[in-house]
Amino acid sequence: MKSIDRQRDIMIREHLEARGIIDKTVLKAMCEVPREEFVSGQFLDRAYGDHPLPIAEGQTISQPYIVAYMTEALELRATDKVLEIGTGSGYAAAVLSRIVTNVYTIERVSGLAATARLLLERLGYTNIVIHVGDGTLGWPEHAPYDAIVVTAGAPKVPQPLLEQLAIGGRLVIPVGSSYDLQELIRIRRLSEHDYRSEDLCGVRFVPLIGAAGW
Ligand code: SAM
Repeated sequence: MKSIDRQRDIMIREHLEARGIIDKTVLKAMCEVPREEFVSGQFLDRAYGDHPLPIAEGQTISQPYIVAYMTEALELRATDKVLEIGTGSGYAAAVLSRIVTNVYTIERVSGLAATARLLLERLGYTNIVIHVGDGTLGWPEHAPYDAIVVTAGAPKVPQPLLEQLAIGGRLVIPVGSSYDLQELIRIRRLSEHDYRSEDLCGVRFVPLIGAAGW
């Protein structure tokens, strides 16, 4: 088996840079966060593989390339306040936390949130706050957000997330009428009432379940 350092190096060069991830802050964050800590023991030798992996509760930790791609698509600045919907293992939140000052993340499954909270504390990520609840409603208390990323597939863009986006902010979300196949889109809030949407690529995420989801 290749060493963890070697596997991480292959991920950065062959799975990210070779496919067009160029944002140095994203590449640095992906290099710094120990992905092997976020996967269960049985998948340790595949932690840096070019694929998602199962986590508890029938959920997944996303493919490294997709985490990097979505993070890059958020066009983050160091001072940004970011909201993530779908904490899962906590991996993407950890990556975001290496780039911006404050990360808020919501997970609907309390067991996943508890495990992620313990892990992130143990690894010393102090700028991530986890909330258990329905992320389709956002987290109004800390709004507006400079960036919002949704890591589960939605049938339509949840209105509360649009409302909680700062003017100039970016929302990256998989949207599709099928339960497991979506288009990744980026929405920019241009002004109080104007938004612009762009299609980025096709993706396959677990469903976003909630009041403004499935
Ligand atoms: N970002 C995660 C990571 O790095 O491990 C991967 C997230 S996984 C693909 C999607 C997650 O979204 C699951 O943990 C699922 O429970 C969660 N989820 C689904 N619907 C949700 C909702 N309405 N609010 C919050 N979390 C939700």
